[in-house]
Amino acid sequence: SLKRTAVHLTAIDHSYGGVTALRGIDLAVAQGAVLGVVGANGAGKSTLGQILHGTLAPTEGRRTVDGELRSALVPEGRALFKTLSLRENLEVAAYAAGIKGADLRTRLEQTGEWLPPRLRERMGMPAAGLSGGEQQILAIARALMARPDLLIVDEPALGLSPAMVTEVYARLGRLAHEGMTVVLLEQSLTRAVSASHEVVVLHDGRVAAQGEPADPEFLAQAEQAYFDGE
Ligand code: ATP
Repeated sequence: SLKRTAVHLTAIDHSYGGVTALRGIDLAVAQGAVLGVVGANGAGKSTLGQILHGTLAPTEGRRTVDGELRSALVPEGRALFKTLSLRENLEVAAYAAGIKGADLRTRLEQTGEWLPPRLRERMGMPAAGLSGGEQQILAIARALMARPDLLIVDEPALGLSPAMVTEVYARLGRLAHEGMTVVLLEQSLTRAVSASHEVVVLHDGRVAAQGEPADPEFLAQAEQAYFDGE
């Protein structure tokens, strides 16, 4: 492939005590593309996301990254500070990334420009007042404060209206188009297929199918693997 790899997982196994979440995962995440990771509840998506992000050390296997890869994870459920304002949510992320002073102002400005106007106008309001979809956009914006090369989003569509799902996915697609590597952890095969350049189907902690949405043979395999997991 001509594409460079952002993160590479080799022979990854992961167990939580007696519960095995991942088995024998080999995965290369191509730079500047959207990778969709699909699976039912408990298939291992969140575990894989945290290992890709680098915050969870796998029980077995190796994670290698391209140079100075900066990774950001938008967790399932978003984990915003609801009583804090939109701006404060962004600032907290900046502090955590060691961004201060003039740099912080620049980042806030740039991230503010990325936000839709209806959020930009509410920077001083508590995050609790946003709709689920707007909160998801804020959670992504918060992750962007660190200027990640790799953005991992855990179930971005959870609890969103169909229109907001479309908007969130369009925004993630644009980030990839601009060169960011995006990993989507998704319960819906349909959504993952329509939003990703490459799709991995997880079943019971293993890669059950992997390929490109444009490939009909892969799609048939993916559906089979996905519905086996239901
Ligand atoms: P979901 O959509 O429900 O979050 P998932 O595909 O993201 O599912 P994981 O959260 O990675 O799957 O979980 C994979 C397996 O590991 C499941 O059996 C889950 O119960 C188990 N598991 C996950 N986190 C822990 C933990 N901290 N301690 C013990 N078991 C865990």
